[in-house]
Amino acid sequence: MLLTPDQDQIRDAVRDFAQQELWPNAPQWDQDHSFPREAHRGLAALGAYGIFVPEEYDGAGLGYMELALVLEEIAAGDGGTSTAISVTNCPYNAILLRYGNAEQKKKWLAPAARGEILGAFCLTEPHVGSDASALRTTAVRDGGDYVLNGSKQFITSGQNGHAAIVIAVTDKDAGKGGMSAFVVPTHNLGNAGWQVARLEDKLGQHSTDTAQISFVDCRVPAENRIGEEGEGYRIALSGLEGGRIGIAAQSVGMARSALDVAIAYAKERQAFGSAIFEHQAVSFRLADCATRLEAARQLIWHAASLKDAGRPCLKEAAMAKLFASETAEAVCTAAIQTLGGYGYVSDFPVARIYRDVRVCQIYEGTSDIQKLIITRSL
Ligand SMILES: Cc1cc2nc3c(=O)[nH]c(=O)nc-3n(C[C@H](O)[C@H](O)[C@H](O)COP(=O)(O)OP(=O)(O)OC[C@H]3O[C@@H](n4cnc5c(N)ncnc54)[C@H](O)[C@@H]3O)c2cc1C
Repeated sequence: MLLTPDQDQIRDAVRDFAQQELWPNAPQWDQDHSFPREAHRGLAALGAYGIFVPEEYDGAGLGYMELALVLEEIAAGDGGTSTAISVTNCPYNAILLRYGNAEQKKKWLAPAARGEILGAFCLTEPHVGSDASALRTTAVRDGGDYVLNGSKQFITSGQNGHAAIVIAVTDKDAGKGGMSAFVVPTHNLGNAGWQVARLEDKLGQHSTDTAQISFVDCRVPAENRIGEEGEGYRIALSGLEGGRIGIAAQSVGMARSALDVAIAYAKERQAFGSAIFEHQAVSFRLADCATRLEAARQLIWHAASLKDAGRPCLKEAAMAKLFASETAEAVCTAAIQTLGGYGYVSDFPVARIYRDVRVCQIYEGTSDIQKLIITRSL
């Protein structure tokens, strides 16, 4: 699949920024577990917070193809940063764009697209992730408000974010049809009912926070309900379809950087009288990695082009995420192997990238769940 000149230009602009501002700083952010606010501001200025949001709502007015290009480049610079931006675009923006009313779009979507607020998505709970039909967080109507109580687990940007799409139970006897979606300001916008119960100590992606959120009598005006009561489950799943295209692109971006490091190293490192790249066991391994990454990219672009054409792409997005995330882990393992002992220590970035990329097989639906989705279409 060929990119248009505009798409080439967008990719190059984000690549330049990511290589100058993210890549050199990523090891420090990893070590300090620090959130790179300045870099986020720069990415927001490039339009990365609102890629497919129409210009009417202050977005870049592009599509999922550009989302994939941009997220690959950001992830090639720093995995954690790509996750925070991925979640803001999709599911946060995607849900508001599709299901929000005009007021909600003006109040909650446009500021995100402008890069003024970081979005989050609260579906997973401590007792349940893959089976999202078994949520327990409740939203009870009280006059002009809903009152939320319960706990959400593994929430990207739960600490640093400003607003979240929250899925909660409004009718506990109605199963999947008893859930509703809300846009909820976080503690950063003064909501005392949004409490960060704990920050997770993760294997990787230290430049983005992952938090457990407690809703304690968290009051949300009824005007913050997205769609009708009972539509929450459908709304949540719709947001994940495009999100998977983004995660797949992140996987390729991270793995591409690990592969680039491995290729450069292999051309320098001498063993048995030549660069190790001259040993075919090494160069063939790298050739396999490059081929598999390109195949993953083509699956992603195919799913993105279907999405942009308004065609169904549930299966294709699942295939892209499954293949790209599994391939990315394999590529990072191969990169570590290529560097030998140096692959296992922090002198080179491949060990960090391996830690960062591993979660792509887990969040927004594990590899098993992607296989379930694909199986249903067979
Ligand atoms: C860093 C990070 C960030 C995250 N960010 C967010 C976020 O922003 N918002 C959010 O809502 N969630 C988020 N998550 C949660 C993530 O989406 C869940 O962890 C994921 O969906 C899996 O759910 P679980 O952890 O409860 O695992 P479980 O659902 O308990 O699954 C455990 C294992 O069982 C397997 N399994 C379960 N059911 C089946 C089945 N039917 N068939 C075959 N295998 C099955 C799974 O594949 C997995 O291997 C994040 C997670 C992490 C680690």
